[in-house]
Amino acid sequence: MKNLIINVHSIIPYTQANGPGMRTAIWFQGCVLNCPGCYNPQTRSTEPNRLFSVDAVYERIDFAVRKCLPDDLVQGITISGGEPFRQPAGLLGLLQRIRGESDLSILVFSGFTLSEIAQQPHGDDILRHIDTLIAGRYQSGLGRGMGLIGSTNQRIHLLTDRYRLSDIIKTPASEVIIDRNGHVTFTGIFQWASRKEHAD
Ligand code: SF4
Repeated sequence: MKNLIINVHSIIPYTQANGPGMRTAIWFQGCVLNCPGCYNPQTRSTEPNRLFSVDAVYERIDFAVRKCLPDDLVQGITISGGEPFRQPAGLLGLLQRIRGESDLSILVFSGFTLSEIAQQPHGDDILRHIDTLIAGRYQSGLGRGMGLIGSTNQRIHLLTDRYRLSDIIKTPASEVIIDRNGHVTFTGIFQWASRKEHAD
């Protein structure tokens, strides 16, 4: 699993709208699931965007964890997309690194269902590294679910006892981040735009 490359859309070092507590979030680039009303269309192209080694992604995580403010300790990593399971080797390599070198929690979003993931390359191995999986195609015609649930058909799978359902449900649905240079990032699910936006 050395020198694996991940096609990354974006990374946000600090976010509170992508899982419980303060988290570093990584959006994988590329998805072919074609959900109607996809809320992340800019992440769907499968062309190379930002190509990072697993080590380079982990270094960004580690930097964010070391530099966070004492009152806002990073408690976990969120991985979204795009579709993270389109890059199973890179995803597994990254999760192994996080598990092996930190006690950060791991939350993953996928358009695949749990049973579809289990049948994919490295599927079971990847699932063994995840605390919480939010799974299923986004269906814009359905209502929004609570917290992080984009549409009511999607399912929250608590794969370890790290979190309770209430921890996931009470996560803020959206967030506006203004960095010290005045750069504004929207992340989460914005009702008025019906889509998710993010940038690094
Ligand atoms: S899984 Fe996500 S990124 Fe892929 S088409 Fe569906 S909503 Fe869009």
